[in-house]
Order: sequence, then C-alpha cells, then structure tokens
Amino acid sequence: MQKENYLGVDVTPYNYEEIITDLRERMKAGQQSTIIAVNPEKVMAAEKNEELRQLINSATYQIADGVGILLASKMKGGKISSRVTGVDMMDRLIRFAAEENHKVFLYGAKEEVVTAAKQKLEEKYPRLVISGYENGYEKDQDKIVKNINASEAELLFVAMGSPKQELWIRENMGKLNVKVFQGVGGSFDVFSG
Ligand code: UDP
Repeated sequence: MQKENYLGVDVTPYNYEEIITDLRERMKAGQQSTIIAVNPEKVMAAEKNEELRQLINSATYQIADGVGILLASKMKGGKISSRVTGVDMMDRLIRFAAEENHKVFLYGAKEEVVTAAKQKLEEKYPRLVISGYENGYEKDQDKIVKNINASEAELLFVAMGSPKQELWIRENMGKLNVKVFQGVGGSFDVFSG
C-alpha cells in the first residue's frame, strides 16, 4: 500500500470502503491491523517528537481525519480526496462486524459512557455482538487482557485519548487474539449520546 507522507507522517490514501476491503483480507490471513486517526495537530506534534512519529507510522492505517490533510494532499497531487474520521471509521467497522459476524470489545471512557455506547450501538445494529467492555479507568491490566481474550472479540476499540490509547495498543496487541485495533478518542462519548 502506497502511503502519502506529510512532514514525516504517513497517511493512508484509502476511503472507508477501501480500508474495509483491505482489512477483510488481512483478517482472513490472520494478520493484526491497527488504525490511527491523523489530523494536522498530530502531524505538527509528530514533527517535533520522533517517538510519536514512529508510533503513528507503525500503524497499519493512518486515516486522514482533518481537512488540513486533504488540502495538503491536493497541493501535492496526492490521492486523498475525502476525510476518513475516527468516529465514522468506527461506525463503518461496527457495521462490518455486525454483517460479517465478528465480535467486538469496547475499552475506554467512563463506565456509564461505555455502557451507554454499547447499548446505543446494539440498538443501531441488531445483529452486532459486543461480547465485552471495560471502562478506561480500570487499573488491573492483566484482568483487561484476560477479559478481551475471553470475549473472543476480533475488533477492539480503545477510547482513552491520543496517544495513550495507541501506546496501550502497541504494548498489549501481542498478548491479544484481536485482529483489528482502533484508537477512537472521544468516540464512545459520541455514540453514547
Ligand atoms: N479516558 C479514559 N481513560 C483515561 C483518560 C481518558 O478512558 O485514563 C477517556 C475519557 O473518559 C474520554 C476519552 O478517553 O471518553 C478522551 O477523549 P478525548 O476526546 O480527550 O480524546 P481525543 O479524541 O482528543 O484523542
């Protein structure tokens, strides 16, 4: 996959459907994939922070969540022509999970927010199976990893803000049987409302 690069930060020139198509193949091949949202603020921060830049560039997909990226792509003759937002990417992945029978785990946000998000998503997608959840303030990391694996979830959404959620994913993905990881920031708050 040919990435575009802005100030050292990679961006995947795929729309929602292209990411789903690519992910489906990676899941079939048993590969793990990570999705991180990139906006101009993150690009600016990563320009001065080598560790953050590596964290972003090591993801499978860096989605173009911000009009600034579209403008930069247009000026460079790139292919990125529409935004791929973190919250809409999560919604599209949830629909994919419901339609193709993949279990989902929600990790992050306050207890009342994550439970409300779970309920709203289950109402929106009746075939969806959210097989587990955990709030973002639970301290027992071993318990969280054990619960995620016991849930048999193939998609995991982590909502603890950036870069905390991406650091957590990087540290724990090797212990998890999950195939698709997305750091989603405040998205559970959006779905819960
Ligand atoms: N959060 C969490 N654990 C923490 C810190 C934050 O679960 O230790 C949650 C917080 O409750 C909120 C989300 O992370 O639901 C933060 O969203 P924010 O909009 O700040 O993230 P951004 O989209 O800006 O990265």
